[in-house]
Amino acid sequence: MQALHWRERIFALRREILSERTFSIIKPDAVRKGHTAAILAQIEEAGFKIVAIKRTSISKVQAEGFYAVHAGKPFFAGLTEFMSSGPIFPMVLEKENAIADLRKLMGATNPAQAEEGTIRWKYAESIGENAIHGSDGEETATFEIGYFFAGIELK
Ligand code: ATP
Ligand code: MG
Repeated sequence: MQALHWRERIFALRREILSERTFSIIKPDAVRKGHTAAILAQIEEAGFKIVAIKRTSISKVQAEGFYAVHAGKPFFAGLTEFMSSGPIFPMVLEKENAIADLRKLMGATNPAQAEEGTIRWKYAESIGENAIHGSDGEETATFEIGYFFAGIELK
């Protein structure tokens, strides 16, 4: 019993040390089409813990702030118009290797190139309306989590 107890503690500690947080949004197209629960189920089945989540919507200006790295690109106006077009589910996800693993689970930006079984392969209809967002790196994840959630909401 005692040995098991210590082994469990070591595994728990390992998970805590290696765990990483990323940020995701179920985008307005997927929410409108009623895919929220299916997407969340796929995320949980892939081993992510949902640390925080809420239903909200953002203004065009707030979308421009969120996607500021893309300012000036030809798709920026369409992207920010779309992201402010309806309810979204921003969320914070946690697991080992969360940032890279979520990107894999999402599939390619253009759903026509997304791998079979990925979230974008299943639910996205175009490069502009592609169902889900995921942070592309550690710095981005920190910025994006802070854009939508207060520290007190992240336990
Ligand atoms: P996201 O940041 O939303 O997770 P991503 O990281 O796969 O997507 P980015 O390059 O960051 O892709 O582009 C942000 C979003 O801008 C994309 O999700 C897509 O909707 C839109 N976008 C990117 N490139 C194009 C393009 N060439 N034409 C139209 N829309 C585009
Ligand atoms: Mg991106």
